[in-house]
Amino acid sequence: MLMDTFGRQATDLRVSLTDRCNLRCTYCMPEEGLQWLGKPDLLTDDEIVRLVRIAVTDLGVTEVRFTGGEPLLRPGLTGIVERCAELTPRPKLSLTTNGIGLERTATALKAASLDRVNVSLDTLRPDVFQRMTRRKRHADVLRGLDAARSAGLDPVKVNTVLMPGVNDDEAPDLLAWAIEHHYELRFIEQMPLDAQHGWQREGMITAGDILASLRTRFELTPEGSEERGSAPAERWIVDGGPHRVGVIASVTRPFCRACDRTRLTADGQIRNCLFAREETDLRALLRSDAPDEAVAQRWREAMWGKKAGAGLDDPDFVQPDRPMSAIGG
Ligand code: SAM
Ligand code: SF4
Repeated sequence: MLMDTFGRQATDLRVSLTDRCNLRCTYCMPEEGLQWLGKPDLLTDDEIVRLVRIAVTDLGVTEVRFTGGEPLLRPGLTGIVERCAELTPRPKLSLTTNGIGLERTATALKAASLDRVNVSLDTLRPDVFQRMTRRKRHADVLRGLDAARSAGLDPVKVNTVLMPGVNDDEAPDLLAWAIEHHYELRFIEQMPLDAQHGWQREGMITAGDILASLRTRFELTPEGSEERGSAPAERWIVDGGPHRVGVIASVTRPFCRACDRTRLTADGQIRNCLFAREETDLRALLRSDAPDEAVAQRWREAMWGKKAGAGLDDPDFVQPDRPMSAIGG
């Protein structure tokens, strides 16, 4: 099992399939993009499936989420999903995507046994979308969402980051839209994980701001904390139900004490926290023909060293070198 010294067990694996992306969200990447990983540095499809197999069969992982960068840019995505779905015990399989290209791939992903998708969408306004992502692809994302729901990737969750003075007036509109389209909306507080290191706590839109804004139009009742479990989103029942809205308050209400995550980067490094400053290299082990047990043991050691919390409030907090897109959000 992937235990740490604070008694937490990691059962939820985030796998980054690529560091590349076709958007340039201002809170994530600079306009010019980043220095992408070279092909030899990326784990191959076989290496990814092997690591997921070790995680599932030897280390107690029960959920696997594919992310990036933009995971739909990975040519072997469908095959990777299909092979992971054949593992015993079968993990739950989900994908976090910006939705571009989902229109073409949703049915194949469902057929490959993907269970769920989270699609990131920050605004209902095409001009604001262009300002936030530096690309004119709003309509593609909406079509991708539609295709995901039609393909039966249920429930379709929508992730939204609010930026001050850009889209922070849209929370109630986004919730009304999500209810109408049967998407489950979750707001994510902006975290200090942008490549440009431009994050500022002052002025960021907090969970408190988001809830106050939503309450101007909706009645929100907190869902019981037992229903939250280790899920990072705190959820509220909207207008008596059945709809829910989530808020992931990583900055103002961190959920580190219940964290059950372990992360694998596209170049085969284990990170025991989004904000970790150290990584553990599994790729070199894989490529030196190490047996599964040696890989599993290195992974256990990586997780054993997990810190109690992300440390955002420590005066000496230092943002990790890798940005969100290279870690896998
Ligand atoms: N490209 C895919 C997408 O956008 O869904 C997957 C990777 S992206 C890094 C995963 C999630 O992280 C997205 O929902 C995105 O909005 C979120 N994200 C990126 N940078 C962030 C930041 N600085 N703070 C909070 N969330 C962030
Ligand atoms: Fe790309 Fe996702 Fe980062 Fe936006 S948040 S730039 S879609 S990786």
